[in-house]
Amino acid sequence: MIDQILQFNRQFVAEKGYEPYVTDKYPAKKLAVLTCMDTRLTELLPKALGLRNGDAKIIKNAGGLILSETDSAIRSLLVGIYELGVKEVMVVHHSTCGACHMSYDAFRPHMLEHGISEETLSEWEARGVAEWLEGFHDTEASVRKTVASIVNHPLVPKDVVVRGFIIDSVTGALTEIQ
Ligand SMILES: [Zn+2]
Repeated sequence: MIDQILQFNRQFVAEKGYEPYVTDKYPAKKLAVLTCMDTRLTELLPKALGLRNGDAKIIKNAGGLILSETDSAIRSLLVGIYELGVKEVMVVHHSTCGACHMSYDAFRPHMLEHGISEETLSEWEARGVAEWLEGFHDTEASVRKTVASIVNHPLVPKDVVVRGFIIDSVTGALTEIQ
């Protein structure tokens, strides 16, 4: 697959396919969006939000979650706020997310099948891997928790607006979660 992508890429550049997308690094809408890596959202989310290239910093991980005060999503948001002029943050989780009901108990046998040793798993269990790979069980509660993690973060300034949403993975409809 990657070789096919490389072939496409050479043609894209040669035909100047990039021209409609030229912009700078500053988000034109002064917006950051924290969302899920789900492939249903790859094009749907920016289209449904009316975001074009250059409009917003889009930060993605499995679930669109923040797991700790030093989570890389927080790091990215801080860069957005202090370096790139972000003033508003949308947390956007989505319906039927794969991170919903995700659990280490389900991962564990697959890891063994893929050649990860019991010894390694024991080490990582002692390091809290089960909590780290745990999904969420209630999407609304997860949105509220993620918004609170940003709002209450000591390094996030109080004048940044943070709001939470669930996007429908099919229609793109946004529902605000208060
Ligand atoms: Zn998801």
